[in-house]
Amino acid sequence: MPDTAPLARLRLDPAKFQDPAVTADGAARATVRLGRLKTLWFNTGTLCNITCRNCYIESSPLNDRLAYLTLADITGFLDEIERDGLPTQEIGFTGGEPFMNPAILEMLELTLGRGFSTLVLTNAMLPMWHLRRDLEALRARHGDRLAIRVSLDHYTPAGHEAVRGQGTWPPAIRGLKWLSDAGFSPHVASRSLSGEGEPAMRRGFARLFSDFAIAVDASRPPALVLFPEMDAQADVPEITTQCWHLLGKSPEDVMCASQRMVVRRRGAARPAVVACTLLPYDPRFELGATLADASGPVALNHPHCARFCVLGGGSCSQG
Ligand code: SF4
Ligand code: SF4
Repeated sequence: MPDTAPLARLRLDPAKFQDPAVTADGAARATVRLGRLKTLWFNTGTLCNITCRNCYIESSPLNDRLAYLTLADITGFLDEIERDGLPTQEIGFTGGEPFMNPAILEMLELTLGRGFSTLVLTNAMLPMWHLRRDLEALRARHGDRLAIRVSLDHYTPAGHEAVRGQGTWPPAIRGLKWLSDAGFSPHVASRSLSGEGEPAMRRGFARLFSDFAIAVDASRPPALVLFPEMDAQADVPEITTQCWHLLGKSPEDVMCASQRMVVRRRGAARPAVVACTLLPYDPRFELGATLADASGPVALNHPHCARFCVLGGGSCSQG
């Protein structure tokens, strides 16, 4: 009979991540205070043109749990930033596939026109391709303040399509190549799904970019971001107030110390602000209707907080 104990130990202990104040073994749970709100994300909606394996937000052509944000939705938050003199410099758009939102061009014009650096995360497939002339015009008006980051799940067609589905590689490479040729200086994000180490991943992407003459520096982390893979079912330690010192980390380095995300739940009367891009559905991380409401501390009461942010060091923005 095989020894199943090691497998059983990997499953998340159900006693963990229950109480925002204390961990399962009674220690004080770590919290993160919002310092400066540097980046405000807008989740444009969870609909996507494809269905990837392990998409952390479970996007697909059918998932509309997060509805399309409207121009009026985002205008209210930009007005709040201006009115309250918040230090926000960067606006991020994520999804789903942001270029599927019917108002995306107006939203980009608005954030760029108000002087924000604006980052869009995309799979660079057909929804972006259809808008390429409009994107060129936006770039002509606003220059490098419009940044686009393309998700590629591996540097080989087979590795990418194992995650994203058959036929997803050619349109993604076509889109990325177009961005590069059009002078967008695109960035690329990938996930550590293959089990290769970071140096091997960077070498593989460097070969890809060289073969296609795509202007992305694979050796530079902001240009090629490699995210740790997340598995919410696997066991992970809870983060206590003692952990910062023990791990040599600072709460200020965690995403929710400087970022928030706006979502509109399907059927909701108005948008809501959540702690970060990683936890759009968990009601414990919904902080309020305005940025002021959402400026309180966040208890690190989810496995993602430990695995992705504190132990894995992930961040979604440019820096
Ligand atoms: S392209 Fe991005 S948002 Fe769409 S399913 Fe894949 S990982 Fe999710
Ligand atoms: S997942 Fe990360 S950014 Fe989100 S609340 Fe937890 S620690 Fe903060």
